[in-house]
Amino acid sequence: VFDVSAPWLNRVIERQPRQFVHAVDNVSFSIQRGKTFALVGESGCGKSTVARLLVGLHEATRGQVLFDQVELTGALKGPQGTALRQRMQMIFQDPYASLNPRWRVSDIVAEPLREHRILTDDTEVNDRVAQLLQGVGLSASDAARFPHQFSGGQRQRISIARALASQPEFLVCDEPTSALDVSVQAQVLNLMKDLQQERGLTYLFISHNLAVVQHVADDVGVMYLGRLVEVAPKRTVFSAPRHPYTQMLLDAIPDVRMTGRQRSPVIGEVPNPMNPPTGCAFHPRCPHARAVCKAERPELVVDGDSQVACHAVQQGWL
Ligand code: SF4
Ligand code: MG
Repeated sequence: VFDVSAPWLNRVIERQPRQFVHAVDNVSFSIQRGKTFALVGESGCGKSTVARLLVGLHEATRGQVLFDQVELTGALKGPQGTALRQRMQMIFQDPYASLNPRWRVSDIVAEPLREHRILTDDTEVNDRVAQLLQGVGLSASDAARFPHQFSGGQRQRISIARALASQPEFLVCDEPTSALDVSVQAQVLNLMKDLQQERGLTYLFISHNLAVVQHVADDVGVMYLGRLVEVAPKRTVFSAPRHPYTQMLLDAIPDVRMTGRQRSPVIGEVPNPMNPPTGCAFHPRCPHARAVCKAERPELVVDGDSQVACHAVQQGWL
């Protein structure tokens, strides 16, 4: 049964006394079936860590990840986890590194079919591989070739074909087009949108690039130093961003905000996560910071159709 309003996947990580750095802290969001939730932020903000948590490549020290009401922490390991793992796949930034150069495309794309024993008969496997390749805009004859014989965009198409082989419902896409030329990026993003429509896929889309996010997202979470600072529907993020960090990111990219204001560059650098600033971690870079910002960390609070972690928004001086 399809229920768009039900939170499908929740992630909560709570703070705890530590001997080590928490790459992400108190991050909580839901992704609705058939939609794309984009996590945005500068490099080192923890967005890839969240992605890896969702597919079981990292484990949370606290909190929970619910996938279709099922708690994922610990559930993805071992043979019992196979059915769950089959339902979620990951696409990585670098199709050069994620495809085994010594394997033919046929073996790369067939690997999940064999791993999950979806098909075992060689003829059936070959037919399915041909279908999958055609489904991502490649040809059946490409199965016999090796990854180095393809362009970057074609290699990412091979990664997508492999990810779709086990007929997953949920794809985690970690900067899937960042290594590609701009013109090729658009083609791959359009392919991903078409596949989402055809197959009812749900995406977690990780990106540092707001222009890309604007193209693909339904909902957006903006991360800064391991925390969500703003979560909102895409139209709200782009038309009425509330958090000063979101505003800074938007002001730094061309043609996104039609406010007539001068574009301004992103100011300052992301602080060292080993030694984060007190209070609001964004305060050293924030043009609106006041004393309270240095002293107290703002919580993520519902504000209209957004959630925002900012004293200025909550106390009304912004
Ligand atoms: Fe800026 Fe203060 Fe808001 Fe942080 S809490 S974003 S420092 S105004
Ligand atoms: Mg990353």
